Amino acid sequence: MNNNHPAERVLLGPGPSPVPARVLQALSAPTLGHLDPQYVAILDETCELLRQVYQTKNKLTFPVSGTGMAGMECVAVNLVEPGDEVIVGVNGVFGGRMKDVMQRCGATVHPLEAPWGEIFPLEQIAETLKRHPRTKLVGIVQAETSTGAHQPIAGLAEIVHRAGALLAVDAVTSLGGHELRVDDWEIDAIYSGTQKCLSCPPGLSPVSFGARAIERMDARKQKPQSWYLDVSMLKQYYFGGGGGGRVYHHTAPINMTYALREALLIVLEEGLEARIERHARMHQRLRRGLEGMGISYIPTHSLHSLNCIRIPEGADDAGTRRRLLEEYGIEIGGGLGVMAGKAWRIGLMGHGATQRNVDLVLTALQHVLA
Ligand SMILES: *Cc1c(COP(=O)(O)O)cnc(C)c1O
Repeated sequence: MNNNHPAERVLLGPGPSPVPARVLQALSAPTLGHLDPQYVAILDETCELLRQVYQTKNKLTFPVSGTGMAGMECVAVNLVEPGDEVIVGVNGVFGGRMKDVMQRCGATVHPLEAPWGEIFPLEQIAETLKRHPRTKLVGIVQAETSTGAHQPIAGLAEIVHRAGALLAVDAVTSLGGHELRVDDWEIDAIYSGTQKCLSCPPGLSPVSFGARAIERMDARKQKPQSWYLDVSMLKQYYFGGGGGGRVYHHTAPINMTYALREALLIVLEEGLEARIERHARMHQRLRRGLEGMGISYIPTHSLHSLNCIRIPEGADDAGTRRRLLEEYGIEIGGGLGVMAGKAWRIGLMGHGATQRNVDLVLTALQHVLA
C-alpha cells in the first residue's frame, strides 16, 4: 500500500461523491491572494453561480469556509439567540445534529419527531407550531442522508411565516441533485455542502440568507457566540465593507473556491432541470435492479441522491462493504445511528449518478452476495 497515491475509488456512498477531472484541475491553479482583484472577481462569480443553483436572488449567498456542518452552525449561530424557541424536525442523524447545534446556541428546542425513514407531513408541522406559538425558527432537513428520506419543502414556508417564524433548511444532499427553489419556496436560510450532489471535494458550505433572516440578524441583542461564523463580519469580506472594499476576516480557502466555481459551471452547463432529471432516472434504474434482487428500500419517500436499503437477511454488513471496496473499488455507506448494521446507503450524487455506476454497483453487489 502506498498512501501517497490515493486509489481512484468509485464513490457511491453518502459523500464525498466522485469529482470530475475539470474540478481537480481547477483546484491546482495558482493560489492568488484573498484580496487580489482577480480572486475577488472569481469569488463574486462563484457567489453568482451559487445563486443560480439555489434559484435565488438573495445577495447574501456565499460559500462558508468549512464543510456542511459549518453551514449548519453558521445558520444557527446567526439566527438563534439564547432563550429563543425553535422547532427542529428530527427523523435521522442530521435532524438530531441540528437540534444539538440549536441547543448549543441557547435555544429551547421543541423536537418534532418522526420514526427514522419517515417524513413530516405539513399538517404535523402546522400542528406543532400551534402548540408552540412563540417559535422563532423551524429547522428541517430536506435530504436526510442517514435514512434516505426526502422531506417536501414546497408549501412549508407559508405555514411557518404565518406563525411568525423563519424557515431554515438543510440542503446538503439535495443541492444540485433534487428540486430546490429557495425564492419560490420562500426559504429564509439554507446551507449545503460541496462534496455531495455538486461533486466538488469537501471544504466549503454554500449558504444563503433571505430578507427575513437579515432582519432577524440585524435585530440581534447579542453578538453570535461564534466569531468565525459571524455573518455581520463575513459579509464585509464577501460583499465589501462600508467603503466598498473587502475587509479581511479570515483567509479564504482560495483553491477550493476555484474548484467550487468549476463544479457549479458544470452543473449549469448540464442544466439544473436536466441534472435533477438524471438523478431521478438513475435512482429509478438502481431501484429496479435492487428490488429485482429482493432488496427493499427503507424510506417511504426516497431521495434520488441517496438510496437507503435493508441489508438482506444473512448478508454480512461490514464484509460485503469491504469486498466491494477491495475487489471493485466501490465505496457504499453503512447504516448510521439506529440503522447501523441494518442499512446500506448507496449514493448517486452529481458526477456519480451515471448508468455505468448503477450497473456496476448492481453487478458487484450480485457477485458479492452470491
Ligand atoms: C453530509 C451532511 C451534513 C454534514 O456535512 P459535512 O460536510 O460532513 O460537514 C449535514 N447534513 C446532511 C443532511 C448531510 O448529508
